[in-house]
Amino acid sequence: MDCLFCKIVKGSLPCDFIYEDDRVLAFNDITPQAPVHVLIIPKQHINSLITISDDDIDILVHIHRAVQVLVKQLKVDQLGFRLVVNTGTDGGQTVPHLHFHLLAGRNMQWPPG
Ligand code: 5GP
Ligand code: ZN
Repeated sequence: MDCLFCKIVKGSLPCDFIYEDDRVLAFNDITPQAPVHVLIIPKQHINSLITISDDDIDILVHIHRAVQVLVKQLKVDQLGFRLVVNTGTDGGQTVPHLHFHLLAGRNMQWPPG
């Protein structure tokens, strides 16, 4: 499948890895929007939050556990962070492989653009 993030998982496209376990990968975003901007993805291909099957739904818990490890590793657990999952066209999703943006290191504004 011609999926950008699947290529990163397979190692055919380089990236700046910062975390890996058996089901999840995290790496720095190529166009960071904050001092900390990490993408957390499942290794298996899932298009978006909308398409997760019943069999795969536990990946969300697994990703959340990875986030808990990462925010401590990155030392942003005290000051806080923002998790974003852009979904679909109106949600601004540009890569159709489920990913969580972990943004931190500056004061976030609301509402988002
Ligand atoms: P989305 O717009 O789908 O929510 O997020 C996709 C993210 O992937 C964007 O923040 C974009 O900067 C990032 N991105 C796109 N291509 C690459 C790449 O080749 N490597 C990395 N590390 N990030 C990428
Ligand atoms: Zn993929």
